[in-house]
Amino acid sequence: MRIQKFEVVESTNDLARKYILEGNKEPAAFVAEHQTRGKGRLGRVWEDEPGKSLLVSFALPGSTYSNPPLLGLATAVFVGEYLDLLPVPWETKWPNDVLIEGKKVAGILPEGIWQDGLVGVVVGVGLNVNQDEFPDDTEATSIKHAFGQALPVEQPLMYLIYRMEQVYEQIVDFSEILATFKDKFKSMGKKLRVRSNDQVWEGTAVDIEEDGSLILNMEGKLVTLGWGEVTLR
Ligand code: ATP
Repeated sequence: MRIQKFEVVESTNDLARKYILEGNKEPAAFVAEHQTRGKGRLGRVWEDEPGKSLLVSFALPGSTYSNPPLLGLATAVFVGEYLDLLPVPWETKWPNDVLIEGKKVAGILPEGIWQDGLVGVVVGVGLNVNQDEFPDDTEATSIKHAFGQALPVEQPLMYLIYRMEQVYEQIVDFSEILATFKDKFKSMGKKLRVRSNDQVWEGTAVDIEEDGSLILNMEGKLVTLGWGEVTLR
């Protein structure tokens, strides 16, 4: 895997996207110390503290990964596997977050890259490693706060590179990873509030399908929700 490091960029996902669109065939990791326009889901912003956050986007060229959201779920599990090594307890929040004691520690942003068909996938990871300051509007934490000491940002980076190389070599069992995501999804079986645009509904999380969609039971009616549609509250 090619690793490219930067001090300040607008968005590591945009660098990875450009790399794929230029026709590069080797997988690559774009790492930055700070993003001026870090991207979240649904046009949201990912904030960092320069040098204290892991900001990495993986570029996986090729058309093998026809389901970018599923790769996003898998990457949340890879972050969790790293937390297990410390160990720090973790949980998943569908579709793209990793939480520690209910607070967000990582956000994942997968994007399919299209040019006359799918030409690759980008998976961005924002992980609060040593962060002490968090956005006001959110319940967030860092590994440092949970673990009690600062860690080199390279440590989770190396673990994610190791797992992403396995993804590229297609030796990763996605059904096993999905089972872990479900197991760590603490809202499974519970009542959830779901927000899309300005609408709010209530439903019970029943299952996550093989393609990564969430199944909600809404007053007896099963509704399938895809990535990018809703926010769980
Ligand atoms: P939600 O957490 O409400 O489900 P989301 O999963 O759609 O939102 P993301 O795309 O993961 O959101 O990330 C963007 C949101 O995450 C922002 O709106 C902000 O509330 C929060 N956020 C931004 N930066 C950080 C950070 N460093 N740590 C934790 N949360 C953050």
